[in-house]
Amino acid sequence: MRFVRYTLPFCFILLGCLFLQGQPLIPCATPAIKSSWLTEFQKRQRTPQLRSDENKYIAMTIHVVGTDEGKEYIGGNIILDALCSLNDKYASTGLQFFVKGDIQYINNSILFDHDKTTFPQIPNLFSRYNVPETVNVYFVRDPMDACGYNYMPGGQSMAIVLSNDCTNGKDANWAHEMGHYLSLPHTFYGWEMENVDPSKPAPHETKMGIEVEMSNGSNCEFAGDGFCDTPSDYLSGRWECDGKGISIIKQMDPDGNYFCSDGSLIMSYSLGICANRFSPSQVGAMHSYLGEALPHHFMPTAPCQNIEPIGDILQFPGNKVVVSSYNRKIMFQWNHAENASGYLLEVSLLANFGTVVYRGITRDTAVEVANLSSSRPYYWRIRPFNAMYACKSYSSTRSFTINQSTTGVPLLETIHKLELYPNPIQAGESIRLRFEADENMALNAVLANALGEVVHQQKIQTSVGNNDYLLNPNLLPAGIYHLWLKGEKGAISRKLIVH
Ligand SMILES: [Zn+2]
Repeated sequence: MRFVRYTLPFCFILLGCLFLQGQPLIPCATPAIKSSWLTEFQKRQRTPQLRSDENKYIAMTIHVVGTDEGKEYIGGNIILDALCSLNDKYASTGLQFFVKGDIQYINNSILFDHDKTTFPQIPNLFSRYNVPETVNVYFVRDPMDACGYNYMPGGQSMAIVLSNDCTNGKDANWAHEMGHYLSLPHTFYGWEMENVDPSKPAPHETKMGIEVEMSNGSNCEFAGDGFCDTPSDYLSGRWECDGKGISIIKQMDPDGNYFCSDGSLIMSYSLGICANRFSPSQVGAMHSYLGEALPHHFMPTAPCQNIEPIGDILQFPGNKVVVSSYNRKIMFQWNHAENASGYLLEVSLLANFGTVVYRGITRDTAVEVANLSSSRPYYWRIRPFNAMYACKSYSSTRSFTINQSTTGVPLLETIHKLELYPNPIQAGESIRLRFEADENMALNAVLANALGEVVHQQKIQTSVGNNDYLLNPNLLPAGIYHLWLKGEKGAISRKLIVH
């Protein structure tokens, strides 16, 4: 349900066509309201005093909304792709966006899927969840049957809501709603509630009472969106660009002159692949709006640096190794990447990662992944990111296979409260093993290093009740180890860290 699927020409005119496909009916449900700030700004603009030269780094709070049961969150990797695209679309404006604080998860089915009927309940939720002095961005399944909207009671922006299905690393959906948040109206301002009839001259005023912009720009200061460097545009439905980025549909201005719309402007409704810029006046308005209306939303210096391409920073599992996994879990480990504050780990049975068996985000440099037992090779890689830099910058890929004789061993359920102590230990320190047993049994204690190599084995005879043993391995180099207790009825393990 992404914009790119709206490729049937003029499909937008046939609302039923989109509806039958289950698509959002409209690209953006932001109401056609021009704030009093912008009207006043555009008057001032005629005496140039724009200050758009200073970089601004704008704080956002990301809210990932799921159902009441905590299901159907948007994937973290999709948010990373979209954040990369958002900053890319704003790259030439001097405005960049960063995520302040951790991603917030909200379980609320009404917010997750709301329409005109349930919308009256939504502003209270914004009041409850919004983090002050940041742009609050909510990812939901269905925001008002649209790809997104900016909620701006009284002309003051309060929250951006984006559809999960319209969020990706290509389209301008997020950039468009952010434009609204920062005071910009549509380039077709005034036409939101009507369809243009290209066979006859447009009226001098739209039904909303807004002066229609002439194609020669003669009334551009007052008509349409009020910006003179955004050409006239009457197209309020999603439309396709030609090879030059202008509309295939011709329109006729009130004087009977034909013109086409400029699809490169993000505040138009051109398909997201054409939309890639703001005009200089739009950029000036966003800078001034931030400076005057949202002075605490941004900082003048970058909160973090870009992440440079990373090489081979993967640690475990090593490349093309055979790994033992008695509990179908693997602890993936890698080295810190410079400037990174988080990592996306992907594990796949395909070398091209076309489908993945695991995808998760962590602030750590290690993640334990469960349910890995295939006899086919697994491939894995990581993608570091930080609060502002989220573009695809993958590590090299590694593959490993799982020793099939170790999978499928059931959990040893007659052992409880298993612990190694101390843990972590210093190299050379002796290791004690404590647990409670339900029965007398013979066990094999196996200590394996991070590569899965066995570094120590010891026979243990348990007795019912508390057990306490001393393990005597040779000097262990610093690293992460796993101790396995294996018996006839299964196996159980604990992690041991040696400093
Ligand atoms: Zn819009």
